[in-house]
This record gives sequence, C-alpha cells and structure tokens, in this order.
Amino acid sequence: MSDTAATVRPDRRAELANGLARVRGRIADACAAAGRDAAEVTMIAVTKTYPAGDVVALAGLGVVDMGENRDQEAAPKAAEVAAAGVTPRWHFIGQLQRNKCRSVVRYADVVQSVDSVRLAGALAAAAAGRDRPLDVLVQVSIDADPARGGALPDAADRDRGLGAVAAAVAGAETLRLGGLMAVAPLGWEPERAFARLAEVASRFRAEHPAATALSAGMSGDLETAIGYGATHVRVGSALLGMRPTLR
Ligand SMILES: *Cc1c(COP(=O)(O)O)cnc(C)c1O
Repeated sequence: MSDTAATVRPDRRAELANGLARVRGRIADACAAAGRDAAEVTMIAVTKTYPAGDVVALAGLGVVDMGENRDQEAAPKAAEVAAAGVTPRWHFIGQLQRNKCRSVVRYADVVQSVDSVRLAGALAAAAAGRDRPLDVLVQVSIDADPARGGALPDAADRDRGLGAVAAAVAGAETLRLGGLMAVAPLGWEPERAFARLAEVASRFRAEHPAATALSAGMSGDLETAIGYGATHVRVGSALLGMRPTLR
C-alpha cells in the first residue's frame, strides 16, 4: 500500500476495527444459531458516503468486498482506492441507470441491482470490453410493488418479470448470473420479508442451480437474513457509523 491521500487517522482505524469485530461477531452468532458455517456468509462493507481512506483502512483490516450505490460517488472513489494500491471486490448495489453502465463496468466486479431486461441488455453491451464476465445478481422485489426497484417474482412481465430478467442475464455472454439480491420492504418485519425471499430463491435455484448467491440483510436485519439463507450481507452503518443522510 503506497502513501497517498487515501489514509485514515489511527483513531478512525481503531473505530473501524471495533465496528468490524462487532459485525463479524454478529455474523458468527447468527450462523451458529442457524446451524451454518460462518465461511458461507460474505460481508460486504457498504462504504457509500464514506471516503476512500476508510475503504483502504477496511482492506487493511481484511475486508475484501465493498459496496457502493451511486456511480458518481463510486467511480472516483474506486480510482482513488486503486491509486493507493488496493483492489477490493466492488459490488454495485444501487439503482442503476442504463447510461451509467459503461462507467460501472470499469470498476465493479459484481452488479447486484439488475431488475429489468432492458438494463441487463445495456449492462451486457457495456461489459463487452471486459476481460472476464461481469457477475450479476438479479434484484427481486419482495412486496412486488412495481413502483420500487426489483424484478417481480410472479409476473410474466417481459421487462420486469424475474424469469425474463434472469434469462436475459443467463443468456448474455458477457454476464454471469450469480443469484439474487433483495432489500426488505419498508414497514415489513424482516422475518416476513426474508421468509418470502427464501421461497422465491428456492424456486429460482431450481431453474438456475449454479446461481446460489443470496444477498440479503443489512445493519439492522442481518441476523434474520442469515437465518433465511443469505450468503452475502451488506453492512454500512453498523461498520462505518451512521451516515449523515439516509439513502
Ligand atoms: C445503504 C445500503 C445498505 C447498507 O445499509 P446499512 O443499514 O447502513 O447497513 C445495504 N444495501 C443497500 C442496497 C444499500 O443501499
């Protein structure tokens, strides 16, 4: 790691180390309670709103996977982190506009938020210049509210139906279908949300047996998500602190 602007003060490093120990402890306890091996669950540090120095410090503490939700913020941050000699595995987890695909495929290793056939097509075209396929998770809507993000599990909709989106990703040479991602809907008990997601995931895996990733659970509900089979949890505030604005 070279000495660049992307560094943190020792007290911030200690704060991140404490946050990381707490979150790793929560994940271990949840896995034990669910009878699962903690090695089955990957923690993604969601670094949105936090500076490149925090990413470099987390990488120094052994965190490999980082998540961002806005390209305008993620693209320069990824460049700054790379300039510091650190290459995390970047997960793009936010709503993605088709005109941002070309930028996102330059730094992202995984895009977790593909929820339409049109977006899958734009991403597949943008990923053509990469030296290896882009990993993609299809974001599913747990409450099937078409106004919010997520492919619709039980819909035959040609653009937004889960079956159509998954087929579009699986059929694209430049993309690799890895599994599903979801966010618990506002106002739903995590228990109900992730139980429903587990049903959707089980039917999905019958069709796509290799696509085993299930990205679910955040700072407030990761234990419940692990209980329902999450393989990836996306943790921001419990690790890095409360963000100044909720988004
Ligand atoms: C911000 C964000 C997270 C992390 O949320 P926390 O509650 O801070 O852990 C997880 N997933 C997505 C899609 C996010 O946008």
